[in-house]
Amino acid sequence: MGKTNSQEEKWGAVLRPLRFVSRNDFANLNKVKNLENTLKDALARIKDTLPQEIYSQIFNLLDRLDKLSFDEKKAHLEKIFSLLEDASQETLQKVWPPLEDVYIDLETYRLYRKELSKPVQFLKGVGPKLAHKLATREVKTVEDLLFFLPRTYEDRRKMRFIGSLKTGEQAVVEGEVVLSGVVKFKRRRVFEIVISDGTGLLAAKWFHFNEKRHRETFRPGRKVILAGEISTFAGRKEMIHPEVEFPEDEKVGLHVGRILPVYPTIEGVSPKVLRRIIANAVEEYAEKAISPIPAKILNKRRLLPVPLALKGIHFPDPQDDIYILNEEKSIYHKSLAFDEFFYLELALALRKSQIARAPGIAFKPGTPRVRRFLKSLPFKLTRAQTRVLKEIEKDMTSPYPMNRLLQGDVGCGKTVVAFLAALIAIDNGYQVALMAPTEILAEQHYLNFKKYAGLIGVEIALLTGGKTAREKKEIYQGLKEGHINLVIGTHALFQEAVEFKKLGLVIVDEQHRFGVLQRAALRQKAKGLEPDTLVMTATPIPRTLAMTVYGDLDVSIIDELPAGRKPVKTYLFTAKDRQKAYEIVRQELSKGHRAYVVFPLVEESEKMDLLAATTMAEHLQKELFPDYQVGLLHGKMKPSEKEAAMAAFKEGRTQILVSTTVIEVGVDVPEATVMVIENAERFGLSQLHQLRGRVGRSARESYCLLVAHKLKPGSEALRRLKILCETTDGFRIAEEDMKIRGPGEILGTRQSGFFAFRRADPVRDYDMLVIAREEAFSLLKEDPLLENYPLLKEILMERWQERLKLSEVA
Ligand code: ADP
Ligand code: MG
Repeated sequence: MGKTNSQEEKWGAVLRPLRFVSRNDFANLNKVKNLENTLKDALARIKDTLPQEIYSQIFNLLDRLDKLSFDEKKAHLEKIFSLLEDASQETLQKVWPPLEDVYIDLETYRLYRKELSKPVQFLKGVGPKLAHKLATREVKTVEDLLFFLPRTYEDRRKMRFIGSLKTGEQAVVEGEVVLSGVVKFKRRRVFEIVISDGTGLLAAKWFHFNEKRHRETFRPGRKVILAGEISTFAGRKEMIHPEVEFPEDEKVGLHVGRILPVYPTIEGVSPKVLRRIIANAVEEYAEKAISPIPAKILNKRRLLPVPLALKGIHFPDPQDDIYILNEEKSIYHKSLAFDEFFYLELALALRKSQIARAPGIAFKPGTPRVRRFLKSLPFKLTRAQTRVLKEIEKDMTSPYPMNRLLQGDVGCGKTVVAFLAALIAIDNGYQVALMAPTEILAEQHYLNFKKYAGLIGVEIALLTGGKTAREKKEIYQGLKEGHINLVIGTHALFQEAVEFKKLGLVIVDEQHRFGVLQRAALRQKAKGLEPDTLVMTATPIPRTLAMTVYGDLDVSIIDELPAGRKPVKTYLFTAKDRQKAYEIVRQELSKGHRAYVVFPLVEESEKMDLLAATTMAEHLQKELFPDYQVGLLHGKMKPSEKEAAMAAFKEGRTQILVSTTVIEVGVDVPEATVMVIENAERFGLSQLHQLRGRVGRSARESYCLLVAHKLKPGSEALRRLKILCETTDGFRIAEEDMKIRGPGEILGTRQSGFFAFRRADPVRDYDMLVIAREEAFSLLKEDPLLENYPLLKEILMERWQERLKLSEVA
């Protein structure tokens, strides 16, 4: 104990200042002088416990630290902090002995499950009234209670001497009651006691009390333990409504004398009661929350099985680091996150292997028409396009179904690649279906594909809700007989009436709106052999998410823009400075270029926004740009009107296009070099990035001008816009967007089922997600049918079979 303590102190000397300066995004950084030497001195004291290379890495990062700029300092300190935290976990954390597998049979497991799903009322101390209150926070079963996790932790480990207490601090003290009774204070009755521990006197007060019970409880001479915040009143130290325990009690240490879990509040349930019933649940049932992840995996990753993790999360070890607990990064938190991710990844691995083993079509590659098409293009494919095309070709020629995700930023040239894949299928005598999430997007794909199809004589059709019954019938006919090679549509492609003669390739433009399930449904349209699937997405998906939602896909990334493209210069203007933005527009127009002016369209205020866009168009035409033509495009226009507005802009008959966000999708006007986004603060980060992708589609310099109206310093909106000004890297933007809005938001509600994690968070627990994936995939490789892991199989099916349409692993 003594040794660990001094270790802890030495480490504290390094970690404490780091924690202090890093708080609130390094708000304190400038207040601290001489950080370099402070940290170097402290570092020297833990040198012998650090691996040599970590020590020198940190030492180098500290070199001349005080002379660096704020941002550099911050970057260095962040790195140091994370190195040290990892190392401190290694050194300071309690060493858990290697675990062994728990062997229980399926029957016992099911019995345990049953017990865990019992209503909370089965627990000691929970009656119908309390159960009802718990239910308001969705705590209904014993298991719910076990997984009702602390929000924060409070340090109530050390007993303090009364003589050393200071106002404002949280403390735990032990002493003897010397006085107790009711006193009057401003016409209110207050129950007051005074305790002594030999170093001083401390008062405690209750404004709500049962006099008889309090008198009995706090009879003079009894030893008590009090925990709470110290305040000072009339020169005396006191605690108001402290938490109380008695050293003679059996269960001492539930509320004081330990690292105390602080649970989310539940209306009508006192923290003490909540803590007590959770303690009961943990004591009686945590053992039964078995998750049969093989011990060799947990040992290798230094993680705990669920029962131990639950115990630890509710009753941390006195040696645990409270800071890490509060960051939800403790071994207990990590273990629970890992557990959840593990089953998801195992399910995805299983699905992937099931698809991979199904019989698919082996297309013949490199047909003459593919070569001819490549020659007829006015450009050469980029290296990234060529590489990705090869990856696709390899999948398509294999006798198993392709299941591939094609990712790339707007304008990187995914469409050509997708068309080439389609061409391979068509040349092999198969049909292709392209599914888009919206009608507008389907139309845009149709226009783009038609351009390419025209070069090479491929029959394509567009199937959307807007078609007449007769047109639709004709398309159905063409697909059934096989003379339509490629059909583009929305979910209408699922409809019963749609029958293919020989569907060979399904291209899905996801935009995050479809998921694993929808893809499976479309594949069923092919009778007999499984068609190949290519999923395209224009919004780069953070790696984290790609791994969860698209975990069953192989991934191809086009990470290069066609030659000569310059990053779009992005600037932020306040409404007051709007004129400056329009000055840049004027300059661009005078060079013969074109401009977009975009207005947000928010559903609840759609009418006003439309009005704003229309008024703005008039204002721009009459006041600012009388010698240019201004066009208007919005979602409420008829399709023919929209097409006309787009065509006029494309051909240059209008030079300024004022629009609501409908231009977000698929529009391609290389002459457009500047975009003004009004009310930019109302758009999401990814959406802004998509919009910006409409300019910068040629070798010319181009601009994105963000005009923001209400921007508070330090607001989320300002942060979003700043990120956009800093970078044009779609992946970085997607990561940031996910940090701001959370993964569920980004994927839309349809995917939310995917994120019904109990406590894991793909962003915070990213490291666990990565290793869960590695372990799950390697376990399945070793035992593809999970024959040696019947319990794992059971849980997997229980949690994911429905959601992932897994076939039973027999
Ligand atoms: P994405 O679908 O990835 O947003 P597109 O396929 O629409 O991108 O391509 C954007 C623009 O770039 C189109 O006008 C397309 O014709 C052009 N393009 C595609 N590939 C290349 C290339 N390798 N070199 C030059 N231009 C290209
Ligand atoms: Mg194939």
